This record gives sequence, structure tokens and C-alpha cells, in this order.
Amino acid sequence: MDYLVRGIGEKGKITVYVARTTELVEKARIIHNASPTAIAALGRALTLVAIMGKMLKGKETISLQILGNGPLGGIFVDSDAYGNVRGYVKRPYIDLPPTPEGKLDVSSAVGQKGIISIVRDLGLKEPYRGSTNLVSGSIAKDLAYYFSYSEQQPSVVAAGVYVDKSGKVSSAGGYIVQVLPDTSLDLIEKLENNISSMDPPSQLILKGISPEEIAEKILKNLDKKIFDSEKLNYSCRCSRVKAENVLLALGIKELRELINKQEITEVKCEFCGNKYKFTSKDLEELINLLKNKQ
Ligand SMILES: [Zn+2]
Repeated sequence: MDYLVRGIGEKGKITVYVARTTELVEKARIIHNASPTAIAALGRALTLVAIMGKMLKGKETISLQILGNGPLGGIFVDSDAYGNVRGYVKRPYIDLPPTPEGKLDVSSAVGQKGIISIVRDLGLKEPYRGSTNLVSGSIAKDLAYYFSYSEQQPSVVAAGVYVDKSGKVSSAGGYIVQVLPDTSLDLIEKLENNISSMDPPSQLILKGISPEEIAEKILKNLDKKIFDSEKLNYSCRCSRVKAENVLLALGIKELRELINKQEITEVKCEFCGNKYKFTSKDLEELINLLKNKQ
């Protein structure tokens, strides 16, 4: 089962979120028929948006977009506050040869130049948007840079996906560690030492080390409290009503063109592959709706 644990260190000066996401990343791989490099990139993004989702409350949602100049052509992931995450990569079939160290070459697939953006819908009139340039294409480092420059929140970010020889996801996970701005350098140094002595998260999870144990390692030799686990899932929030809204946004002229061109119009959800079918009669009804609004 995929889940997240949160922990606090030194009475709340440090907050740690650790997620194991093996099952949800494998589900994403199957839905999108993604190559090893593509699922490594998408899986990192899914893991990190799942963690950021857990920083939200109630009906709030968050989406993360990574638009790099690499061949994957863009990664889109989102989450609600209840651990329901979903995402897709524009070209899931793209695969690259491994790096000289034998690792999946996520940075080259994403691209080292581009933009990382975050949109938080907090239920206010306008969603909160922020973005920064990519600094590495590795996704975790790009997000850490985003946190420090766009939100003035110093953070350590790690995420990884381990893909086996057959192309299946054997382990996936990651963590985000945030410190309060007034945290002493001595404390930050202890934290950095703990983190730099650890293996990457996908390796730890592959060895069967739990998110609780990873949180313990991050907060080693510090005053700490680890909280109960919270479930994470790959789950889509698409619906026929949302598909109708996509069609309504096209406007009367385009809807007429669709009616003239084909009997059935399909709206495919990019996140889960679900297809919503609309007959010419359905489209006529949508046109009437738009006419009544004019
Ligand atoms: Zn969907």
C-alpha cells in the first residue's frame, strides 16, 4: 500500500514528509504504457505532487507542471488533499539510453532548460500560481529551487523510481524536508549530515525500508515525533460534466463543425484514458445551452 508519513523535528522547526508511491507509479505506467525513462520522470513528479497535496486542507488542490526542452515534452500532475494523485507525460513512449552510471536519464528526457510551475487552488477567486526556471531537469532539484526562490522556503527534496529489467516499477518514493526560516545553522548541518549519509529513496524503498524508518533516519539524533500514515492513490477526478465543459469552451462554431464532421465526438481524459462519447444530439443540446447564455 502506498502512503505518506509526516514527522516533526525539534518541536516543529523541521517538517518531514516521506511517501512510498510504488503502486501508484506502476498504475500510471500501465495507464500510459510509459517507457522506463518516461515513468521515472512522471513517477518523480507524481511522488512530489502527492506530498505537496498533503500540505493542503479540505477541498484545496495542487498541480505541478514541468515544461522542459527535452523529448518528453512536458509533465502534468495534480493532487487533492486526500492523497488522490494523477498525471501524464506528453510523450510517454520516449526512452533514452542510460547514463554512464547506469541510471535512467531523467534530466536529458525532461530537459535542463524550461519552467516548473505550481498552481494551488485554495478555493479563493484566483488560484495561487508560481514558477521558476528549471535548474537540472531531475525534478527534485528543480522543485527545491522553486521552493527557495518562489516561496522563500528552504527545502530538501528527493524522489526516485526504480524500474526493473522488464520495465515494471519495483519501487518509488521520495521526501520533502522543510525548515523554519529562523532555524540555526547547527541544526541545519545535523539535518544535512543525516540526509547525505542516506541512500536515494527508491533504493531505500526497494530494500523494504518503510516511510516511517526513512523519516527516523532524516531526523536521527534530533528530537522528533512521527505521525500516523496517510493513504495515497492514483485516482482520476474526471467526469462527464467536466468533459461537457471542455466542449462548451470550444464555442458554438466549433461544436457545429464537430457535428458536421462526425457522428460521435470523443473527449479523452489525458490523466486516465477514459473516453466520454457525445452524439450529434448531445452536441446540439450543448449549443442550445450556449445560445441561452448569450
Ligand atoms: Zn480521467
